[in-house]
Amino acid sequence: MTSGSTPDAAADSAPSTVEEYQAAILAAITPLAPVSLELAAAEGCVLAEDVTAAVALPSFDNSSMDGYAVHAADVAGAAEDSPATFLVTGEIAAGDIGTYRLAPGTAMRIMTGARLPAGADAVVPVEWTDDGDAQVAIYRPAEHGNAVRYVGGDAAEGETLLTAGTRMRPMQIAVAASAGRKAVTVRPRPRVVVLSTGDELTEPGTPLVPGRIWDSNSYMIAAAAREAGAVARRRSGVPDDPKGVLPALEEQLAHADLLITTGGVSMGGEHDVVKAALRKLGTVTFRKVAMQPGMPQGFGVLGQGGEGGLGGAGGVGARRAVPIFTLPGNPVSAYVSFQMFVRPALAALQGASDLSLPSVRATLTGPVRSPSGRRSYLRAVLDGSKVTPLSGQGSHQIAYLGRANALIIVPEWETRLPADETVDVLILP
Ligand code: AMP
Ligand code: MG
Repeated sequence: MTSGSTPDAAADSAPSTVEEYQAAILAAITPLAPVSLELAAAEGCVLAEDVTAAVALPSFDNSSMDGYAVHAADVAGAAEDSPATFLVTGEIAAGDIGTYRLAPGTAMRIMTGARLPAGADAVVPVEWTDDGDAQVAIYRPAEHGNAVRYVGGDAAEGETLLTAGTRMRPMQIAVAASAGRKAVTVRPRPRVVVLSTGDELTEPGTPLVPGRIWDSNSYMIAAAAREAGAVARRRSGVPDDPKGVLPALEEQLAHADLLITTGGVSMGGEHDVVKAALRKLGTVTFRKVAMQPGMPQGFGVLGQGGEGGLGGAGGVGARRAVPIFTLPGNPVSAYVSFQMFVRPALAALQGASDLSLPSVRATLTGPVRSPSGRRSYLRAVLDGSKVTPLSGQGSHQIAYLGRANALIIVPEWETRLPADETVDVLILP
């Protein structure tokens, strides 16, 4: 960080690196307060506690197959041409809570998941028998412990099954339920409001007149925020009127854990209304980041410091600090900026350990170019270990964005890379 003290100090100095900017953002983010949510509601949220096994898993010795509970020693000599034959003294189904004891020289029919009778030390799968009811012929020996799931074979009592910071995906929901948990302590999904700015914006579904475009950013960024675990709403088409921007943000502040604007933050001009309105507050910093796309960035907090409602301290008492990102208006820039900066911030609000996109090394199928001194994120199609850069890399070329599943990273010091070069590739969610 060169400076975070005054709003435009950073913008006037050398561009920040991607990592410097990410670090400045994460330093300003405090995870949301944990809440207890029932399992179904906790789906997709991030654990704020460790989940331990209330009992050993499994909590009783049981059969892993349908078959016959036996004493292994009794079937040691069983063979195809000389089967061992036993009286079947009972049948134990899954869920049967009766107490059974297996007498030596006998067998009991047992189902998958049923509790092993006392004395038994092996299960002979039904496929190794004649499937008899009153009496059974067993054609193969079963070793001690065959087809038995022992107490604690999955986890010991008190063992940590899930750690804080883990997202509750279907597998983790199953683990918590198996550990007997009705509810878990998680961080709630961050509430995100996306405001798109620009006089040119028209709502999709309504006719276009020349000079106007349909608003895609607010839909895209709200969807990306949901994909990153947030609950997101959009507020489309905030006009390019400096007097309208702050009231529009103020209106959303009480209902948001994080605000995102798109547009109105370019490098100059009267029409950069977001920048013009927010730089006055003193809590939002605008800067250049040495990347392409997405060079102009803004980040800060609303609801504290400064003056007035958005500045926060005055009037309404101590208010929450709500992080705000001002993303560039070009859709590709907005998208890449979201993935590089907003996504980690949303993860940090959720207390998640998975902060950034997964990356792989892959071989370029064609050459790429990149401006000197800036890190490029090029839209690409990743297929196994090969990555193909898409031909249209303009920040407005949304059609190419729709074909991409990955971003090729070209380091700051490279201006061109030939085909067959190995590169880092970010996998898009
Ligand atoms: P700005 O950052 O406001 O100067 O906008 C840069 C470019 O992005 C312009 O071509 C805008 O028309 C375009 N743009 C801005 N907002 C949106 C949006 N919500 N959806 C699609 N394109 C947009
Ligand atoms: Mg604009």
